Amino acid sequence: MSVDRSTIWPYADGRPGEFTYAREAHPTGVEAERLLAELEGAPEGHALLFASGTAAITTLLLALLEPGKTVALAEGGYYGTGVLMGELGRWGLRHVEFDQTGPPPDGIDLIWLEAPTNPFLTMPDLDAAAAHPAPVVVDSTAATPIYLRPLEHGADFALHSGTKYLAGHSDALVGAIVSRDADAHEQLRRFRHRSGAICAPDVAWLLLRGLKTLRVRVERQTETARVLAQRLAAHPAVETVRYAGIGGMLSFDVRGDAQTVERSTRLIKNATSLGGTETTMESRHRWEGDRVPVNLLRLSVGLEDADELWADLERALA
Ligand code: PLP
Repeated sequence: MSVDRSTIWPYADGRPGEFTYAREAHPTGVEAERLLAELEGAPEGHALLFASGTAAITTLLLALLEPGKTVALAEGGYYGTGVLMGELGRWGLRHVEFDQTGPPPDGIDLIWLEAPTNPFLTMPDLDAAAAHPAPVVVDSTAATPIYLRPLEHGADFALHSGTKYLAGHSDALVGAIVSRDADAHEQLRRFRHRSGAICAPDVAWLLLRGLKTLRVRVERQTETARVLAQRLAAHPAVETVRYAGIGGMLSFDVRGDAQTVERSTRLIKNATSLGGTETTMESRHRWEGDRVPVNLLRLSVGLEDADELWADLERALA
């Protein structure tokens, strides 16, 4: 599909057609949304793209909640989600953290899970969440629809930082929400139009291209991550390895200075983010402070050869 960069489409006989103004919707975005909804096993077209994963999170909170509402947020998840919810406290949003491997607390209005959490790699108890009366959001960024389709497990929304695995090449900032319910989908779509949180057509095109190789990329990344997780667990300089058994993200604690290790790799890039074709590793303490162990390193496994990656890690750990 080619990119249609128009921001406007002429009316036919004075009547607006399917596309009128790109802040509402554009053909490249709609095509990517169609494909993503299909991948997630959602009702047809029930996906929406956003300017970033964070724009998707902001939209979901602002469009579906109101002042005084409380979100139960999975502890140990992407720290930016909690920081954002904290910011929205000024607008009356409350949030409490809970252990997502068990049931969510009573008296809350929205359940926010992450599969698996970044960087603690816990998986949510989806059955316990689905049994709770509050609607359930699963940030499924790290699992991807290849390993988890949250709607099939009773979740109401699957949310992605498409910046990571879906686009997959560390060159597109994009977010997505897939909804079960038609009214909720429409509410999100309307709010996206009003707030201007949509992504650009070129970005939607990069997402479409990324989705074509999603399965082969994440399967290969998972294979390599499993090998590295096993070898790391057996290494004397490593204290703890966290890996959910799916996807390319893992974290581990070293005996010694994590920042020395992250600066000592050659093949593995010392950079943030995850989900790209190139392996990246960083100490999360620099961003998250004491919320994470000072000796924790997060590794996002790319498409390089597993033995070459291991040789690089071994050298850095030495
Ligand atoms: N959710 C998870 C699990 C993430 O890891 C991130 C980013 O690191 C986000 C959401 C936010 O996405 P973005 O950086 O595209 O705004």
